[in-house]
Amino acid sequence: MRIVLVGPPGAGKGTQAAYLARNLEIPHISTGDLFRANISQGTPLGVEAKSYMDAGNLVPDSVTIRMAEDRMEQADAAGGFLLDGFPRNLGQAEALDTYLKGKGISLDAVLDLEVPEDEVVKRIAGRRICRKNSAHVFHAEYSKPKTEGVCDVCGGELYQRDDDHEDTVRKRLEVYHSETEPIIDYYKAQELVVTIPALGKVEEVTQRAMSALGRGE
Ligand code: ADP
Ligand code: AMP
Repeated sequence: MRIVLVGPPGAGKGTQAAYLARNLEIPHISTGDLFRANISQGTPLGVEAKSYMDAGNLVPDSVTIRMAEDRMEQADAAGGFLLDGFPRNLGQAEALDTYLKGKGISLDAVLDLEVPEDEVVKRIAGRRICRKNSAHVFHAEYSKPKTEGVCDVCGGELYQRDDDHEDTVRKRLEVYHSETEPIIDYYKAQELVVTIPALGKVEEVTQRAMSALGRGE
């Protein structure tokens, strides 16, 4: 299956992607995680991306599209993938369509995680991620690690993302509404969008998403 997850920052895309990718046996491809891995490795791409991320802006399409395509070219993505945080504007959505068309493949679904803005703000304020792997996500209240400050999965140190501080969050929400939301209509025109109410327990949301994909219990 080839799936795109959309929703505002803090909606729970990364959290859901981890479960869905495992259940569906496809790789979870998060452009945010790829940028953060580049930043922690100090690559030129990471250096370039960081200034945009810290300001709450999108990293330019030229950089982002190439990085996403390179990742989709890897062997584990040949049978499908779950995209999280990509595409994030109309230019990226069009580039993805062109890429998929060139390969003779297409998307199966776009899952739109719907969460009220006040809940998103709470989720972001308490988010703590692992220094070793930013796909390991916790929450100070809703999803506490067994030992405070330590990742349950790999023992890495948990920290608050630089872009999860209040000012940047406001900017990221603005960017979501102005640049990312239009892709939902773009995909609605292709009849790919399924809206998933994403309030409630993580497992409940996963169940809703699996049912929407025709893989419910
Ligand atoms: P996104 O990838 O959309 O930015 P995350 O998956 O990182 O969002 O989730 C944001 C925060 O909300 C994390 O701290 C996560 O633990 C928490 N979270 C995710 N899903 C839920 C949920 N259903 N209920 C409560 N908290 C959640
Ligand atoms: P995320 O981890 O998805 O919340 O993304 C964190 C930040 O990485 C975003 O605020 C952007 O600065 C950058 N980013 C992630 N994905 C993209 C993308 N598809 N296009 C542009 N910037 C992105």
